[in-house]
Parts: sequence; C-alpha cells; structure tokens
Amino acid sequence: MQRCGMPAMSIVCDLDGVVWDGSQFIDGSVDGLALLHQHGYEIWYVTNNSSTPARRHCDRLHAAGAPQSEHVVTSADSAASVVHQGDTILVVGGPGIHAALQDRGCRTMGSTDLTPRSLPAIDAVVVGIDPDISYHTIWMAQLAIANGARLIGTNPDTSFPSDGMIKPGGGAILAAIAAASDSEPTITGKPYGPMADLWRRLRSDTEQPIVMIGDRRSTDGAFAAELGAEFILVTSRISDSDLTDVPVHHTVASLRDAATLLVSEG
Ligand SMILES: [Mg+2]
Repeated sequence: MQRCGMPAMSIVCDLDGVVWDGSQFIDGSVDGLALLHQHGYEIWYVTNNSSTPARRHCDRLHAAGAPQSEHVVTSADSAASVVHQGDTILVVGGPGIHAALQDRGCRTMGSTDLTPRSLPAIDAVVVGIDPDISYHTIWMAQLAIANGARLIGTNPDTSFPSDGMIKPGGGAILAAIAAASDSEPTITGKPYGPMADLWRRLRSDTEQPIVMIGDRRSTDGAFAAELGAEFILVTSRISDSDLTDVPVHHTVASLRDAATLLVSEG
C-alpha cells in the first residue's frame, strides 16, 4: 500500500547478520520487512554472500514470507557483470559463483582436478568463500594469474556472522591469493562500483530515495555512500569499528527497529 502523497523509497537490505544469522532468521526481521512493504517501500536484498545461488536466497526469503523475495542481488552476480560471455574462469568459491557465471555464458571450473601441466588458458580467477580452500587451490590460482588471468573478488569481507559465531570471509581467502600472485584484485561486491552499477540497472524507479540497512560500516555503510543513500546500521550481529568516518544516519538494534523507525519518520 503506497502512502498517499508520499514518495516510495528503495530499501537496500543486507542479508547476513540483518535478516538472518546462518540457519536462523533474526527475530522480527521478516515482520520488519513486511511493515516496510506495507508502507510502499520497494525492498531489495543485496548480499556479499556469493556461495549460495541467488535462487536459493529467493526461495528462503519467500518461504519465510519476506516481501519481494525475487529482488536478490549477490556478489556473484556482480562478479558475473564484469566478465565476458565465453570466458573460461577458475572459481575459488561455492555453487553461487558457478551458477552466476554459467548464466553469463562462461565456462567454469574448480581447482581440484587441475595440475600445473593441465592448466588451461584461464581468463579470470573469481574468488569468494571456499570452505575447502587448500594450498593447491592457491597455487593453481597463482599460476593462472601468472599466465594472464584477471583476479576478481566477489567481496572484501574478511569475516561474517553465522549461527552465533564469526567465521573467515571471502576477503580473507582473496587476500591470500592476491598476496601469492602479487596482484591487485578487482572487487565487485559491496561497496564497490560493479555492485552499485548492477543494482542501479535492476531497480525500477531511479528517482526514489534510497536507504541502506546493514551491519557493517566497511561494506554496507560504504555502499550506502556509493549509492548516495542513507545508512542505518543494525547492531544485531557484527559490530565492526573500522571506517568510523562512514556516515551512519541511525544505529538500531535490529531490522525490525529500523523498519519501525522509517515508518514513524514517514
Ligand atoms: Mg552483513
């Protein structure tokens, strides 16, 4: 229901640590999203999680009753936006990266069956979270990059919250490969330009004001600045103290509180 005479707003909402924490939805998060949608806000879910295919995020949100569950953009999608159809790509990451790149028309492979002698011509190494990361994987990525492949990272996050714990993120794996190959990666997820450009192409109304709701200043807060959006910091899970110069317009305990605040502000 659009409020009469009031412009709708685009909400760009992070997932990990805001909507859910690993296998559990955070209390009240779906209620908060529903409240925003009832008041005419357009909801987008923009996540740096590249390992899970976007389709599975959509299905999970839909099953929980979250509004506009089809509006999911992942950092794997942003990585796919900077490669070319027909590229051969070494993936250091999960099925979400393979799916996004294959949808783009790329040929993807993992490192398991590669050897220095069998390494094909590779256009790019795309790095996300690989829970089975090994010395061999870093070595194959290093060799591919030495042979001319671009190094692309889906996200810079060095850690992420999951089931009440903090785990190493894709940014930590990317840092290892960048160091081994002495190369500077192109990072495509929040807060970088490729994700912002991709989201701008997908949104329906470019005139709507934007609010970003996230749990990290370094990615969500900086992404808000990239989009020209206000930033609401949710402290339900990660509390990062870096980049304190990133503007935070409000700090709240949960997504439900963020929704209540926005609706009450009108
Ligand atoms: Mg998060």
